[in-house]
Amino acid sequence: MEGPERLFWIRPKHTIGRDLREKCYNPCIECGVPLGCTAVPDRNVKIFTNRVVVDHFGQRKFDIACVGSWYGTRENPELQDVPRDLVVSGGLFAFLYNAGVKGLVMPDEGVFSARGDSPLEKKRRFAELTSGKQDKILRKKMWWQKEKE
Ligand SMILES: [Zn+2]
Repeated sequence: MEGPERLFWIRPKHTIGRDLREKCYNPCIECGVPLGCTAVPDRNVKIFTNRVVVDHFGQRKFDIACVGSWYGTRENPELQDVPRDLVVSGGLFAFLYNAGVKGLVMPDEGVFSARGDSPLEKKRRFAELTSGKQDKILRKKMWWQKEKE
């Protein structure tokens, strides 16, 4: 397909840390690789949070990466389903949003790092590529801003 309807796929080659909720089971008897993984929240905490916390954010320069955990099963080769969550920097998300990329879903919240990597940076990445009225991401209302209207 040619023209503006042409699709592009992006496949990250980096991974960040594992989701702390990751629980894997049923290791392969030959190689030890788990045949299944799922996300299980810590039931022993007194205050439950639905935040996704990973071990670390990897290298600071990453703009797109996979979370180090996968979820699903490898038990039946015909029914393999091992999706990985994908994360992008706020700067890349804003750049793609401003460029009119379709299919972007604004997450309800970000991902947090158990190592203490800051989820915020002083300067937005790629901010110099969009300015003024073109910067639609700055005018986008978040879900909590819409509820007050
Ligand atoms: Zn194996």
